[in-house]
Amino acid sequence: MMKNDQLDQWDRENFFHPSTHLAKHARGETPARVVTGGSGVYIEDRDGTKLLDAFAGLYCVNVGYGRTEIADAIAAQAHELAYYHSYVGTGTEASITLAKMVIDRAPANMSKVYFGLGGSDANETNVKLLWYYNNVLGRPEKKKIISRWRGYHGSGLVTGSLTGLELFHKKFDLPLAQVVHTQAPYYFRRDDLDMSEADFVQDCVDKLQALIAREGPDTIAGFIGEPVLGTGGIVPPPQGYWDAIQAVLKEHDILLIADEVVTGFGRTGSMMGSTHYGMEPDIITIAKGLTSAYAPLSGSIVSDKVWRVLEQGTDEFGPIGHGWTYSAHPIGAAAGVANLKLIDDLNLIENNVSTGGYLRQRLNEELGDHPNVGDIRGVGMLAAIEFVEKKDGRQFFDPKTAVGPAVATGLASRGVIGRAMPQGDILGFAPPFCLSKDEADIIASATGAAVRDVFA
Ligand code: PLP
Repeated sequence: MMKNDQLDQWDRENFFHPSTHLAKHARGETPARVVTGGSGVYIEDRDGTKLLDAFAGLYCVNVGYGRTEIADAIAAQAHELAYYHSYVGTGTEASITLAKMVIDRAPANMSKVYFGLGGSDANETNVKLLWYYNNVLGRPEKKKIISRWRGYHGSGLVTGSLTGLELFHKKFDLPLAQVVHTQAPYYFRRDDLDMSEADFVQDCVDKLQALIAREGPDTIAGFIGEPVLGTGGIVPPPQGYWDAIQAVLKEHDILLIADEVVTGFGRTGSMMGSTHYGMEPDIITIAKGLTSAYAPLSGSIVSDKVWRVLEQGTDEFGPIGHGWTYSAHPIGAAAGVANLKLIDDLNLIENNVSTGGYLRQRLNEELGDHPNVGDIRGVGMLAAIEFVEKKDGRQFFDPKTAVGPAVATGLASRGVIGRAMPQGDILGFAPPFCLSKDEADIIASATGAAVRDVFA
């Protein structure tokens, strides 16, 4: 590993980083970090700085860093057979085993899993499947997808449109016309502060019904939502939200895509977020936690109902015209099998309930009374703190003050990585599932100190 400035220079001259202020990075005005190693909940950079990664990369390294079981499975697969495709009924032991493991962990009505590379391409697949589904059923007008403001579903053309965050639309000519957005299930940010949680759920239902009436139910194929809003603010849904929304979707024959890229495989404290919230999706998106990011792999799990129509379609029109070279890549599949085994063997999901709950309790003890902390929330191994200028009347800061990023920077200087969520002053936590109570204490006290420092 080069320790001199050569690497820094090559980085600034050659590397187009995602989600980065490109000009500042190229000019060397923003700090860059070269990560060299990781173990448990910690990563290390080339300068020897050790950081507690309380966001598990991008909420994906769920089993923690440095798991030799997964590394060994990847190496063994690479030695045996690094690649073969999965077209025309071909598979490998790893991809077939993983498909079985995924379906075993999915809700009971799920039938098959199509494997992709990442969450964005999986959601592109899902939208295509809904279009195909309605074409096979002779309903060519039923194509639009409803998404929620503040939802995050990727950054492709359709998936960037599904995403309901300004930054991902601005100057990219998104959203595309086939995508329409409805209210986010974000009770803390309700317009009318006097509204009860139950009334707010009814308001979400009313707004959805109005949108469907405006567009015409015969033009709407699907509704996509994360069981827990993730990048839009780490917001568990208000009580009764999913039951109420699903009743509307059933009424209009609109299929539900549960985007479980973050919540899948344990993040909420249940194996699947859909089960946690009583959702009965027609399609489920999985990625991140499928391999704990040890190799890229995603999936679209389709229900019996959708599968039957896909079979009908291929009987009528021939083989499905959809596939990636790297679908079900054997190395990703081997990583997935080892990862899902590890989650079971180490009882990591149980730890999310106890240690995740403890983390939120400790954050509350540190900051519950702080005048600029408006909300502390989460579920399983997810937590968020939302900052306000004034608690009374829930007055938010002008985004230009960027207090969320300032707290995240202060936290990093204390050795802990949290994420300043992209819209609003929200500090997010999604640590690896192996987090211990001692490590939760470290996160909570560093966060307390960083927050008090920024607002002093
Ligand atoms: N869906 C959700 C809920 C996500 O959080 C993400 C990424 O954060 C995606 C989809 C997109 O996944 P990817 O970045 O792997 O394309």
